[in-house]
Amino acid sequence: MAKKTKIVATLGLVSDSKETLKALIENGMNVARLNFSHGSYEWHGNVIKIIRELSQELDVAVGILADLQGPRIRTVVEVPVEIVNGEKILFSDIAKQQTTDNKQLTTKKILLDVPNIIDDIEIGNEILIEDGLMKVVVKEKSEGVLLCEVIDGGIVKNHKGVNIPDAKLQISPITEKDEKDLAFVLSQDVDFVAMSFVSTGANIETLRDRMKTFLGRETELPQIIAKIERKEAIKNLDDIIQHADAIMVARGDLGIEIEGTKVAILQKEIVKKSLQAMKPVIVATQMLDSMINNPRPTRAEVSDVTNAVVDHADAVMLSGESASGKYPVESVRTMKEIIENTEASPFDDVTHLLTLNGEGDFKKVIKSAYELAKSSNAKAVVLGSASGFTARLFSHFRPEQPMLVVTHNKKTYYQLSLVWGINAKLYDRGEVFREDIDWLIEDAKKEGILNAGDKVVLILGRTPDGEHIQLVGIKEI
Ligand code: ATP
Ligand code: MG
Ligand code: MG
Repeated sequence: MAKKTKIVATLGLVSDSKETLKALIENGMNVARLNFSHGSYEWHGNVIKIIRELSQELDVAVGILADLQGPRIRTVVEVPVEIVNGEKILFSDIAKQQTTDNKQLTTKKILLDVPNIIDDIEIGNEILIEDGLMKVVVKEKSEGVLLCEVIDGGIVKNHKGVNIPDAKLQISPITEKDEKDLAFVLSQDVDFVAMSFVSTGANIETLRDRMKTFLGRETELPQIIAKIERKEAIKNLDDIIQHADAIMVARGDLGIEIEGTKVAILQKEIVKKSLQAMKPVIVATQMLDSMINNPRPTRAEVSDVTNAVVDHADAVMLSGESASGKYPVESVRTMKEIIENTEASPFDDVTHLLTLNGEGDFKKVIKSAYELAKSSNAKAVVLGSASGFTARLFSHFRPEQPMLVVTHNKKTYYQLSLVWGINAKLYDRGEVFREDIDWLIEDAKKEGILNAGDKVVLILGRTPDGEHIQLVGIKEI
């Protein structure tokens, strides 16, 4: 039986050929992530074109996720600056640097590349440099300059990432670069846009408004994935989950902003809350990190992926493993094998833990359909879903049976690539009430997923005449 947990794979220079992309899809990649911190538009455009072609050729819904860099703060130094524990140094930014007087110029100074960011940093805040390798604490603040004491020294190089976990940054969540990248990815009709360094639900609405303005329409937008990687985002987690279409546990920066030893527990909390709110959730960063250089993962990495699968995350993600490592295809295959082995074991059977926020009538109907599928020993659940809502609702219960979904909506078809257990097919003869389901069942028979005489549960979530209704039935095919 096909795996249920989805795989998101970041693409890069080692995985951009048609041959490799084909192998990635055949080995279980469901969503391709393009990181707009890297690569030219020409490169991204070309990869998107190849994936769309392969998706059609192989009849697999492969989603495309564009990850926007967001307000990443970086250092600006002319030459590397060595900073020593206990030493006092200065921080300024590229707009405020002139305000430094001559006396202060004798002290070591590091600039930040975001104009006026110094205004948002307070006495007592910690400034972390290069993935938290170096740390300073702010002792004094005067016009445009911070006097800091070095806690963990090292050599500060140019263009390295900076985190300031406790600062209330006024910095725009959508930078000028993001604006340009957004215009590009919308022109490419991507399925998901990931927003980095989200702080609040309002950030997400700002991006959604921007998309609507660019596209000149209110619907069929790419889904917005909120990357949880700031301390601020943990504080506003409920608000963010409510406004986002999907969530990513971006453990890289999160592990710098909060204590690294708390990340695994936070991951569980974020996954649980996302499931309750019926928002697809991705666990990301360093899942099989050693496979960047080695053909096999460490046992700790296998446990990490297994743990995310047991917790019923919708998807697990590869970064450098598939974008810049030596073993991109093997990484996807290994991830798939870990998922299959975990799902086949009894240890992921915890559906009774899956509660859902609120108890609307649609949820009750779908819950009873889930009970019906279980008690009737149906071979599969066959769903018709236009917007994807009914499919996501059923997937929420993490059933054992395959979930075969037919949709006439191309966006829905691709966006369901991220949803746990959903195997979607595109019916391109328009929105119909019944023929599409018959077509889907015939297709599943041809593929050997279903056989004549099998029992299936049918769920039709439809909006004939604009009113949403759900019908549940059972059928021997
Ligand atoms: P982020 O913090 O957003 O994850 P990152 O720099 O860690 O940024 P990843 O997406 O984790 O980037 O990818 C891992 C590595 O793969 C990158 O550091 C980069 O070297 C390489 N890479 C990713 N995308 C591309 C690309 N489009 N072109 C070239 N190299 C890439
Ligand atoms: Mg990042
Ligand atoms: Mg990364």
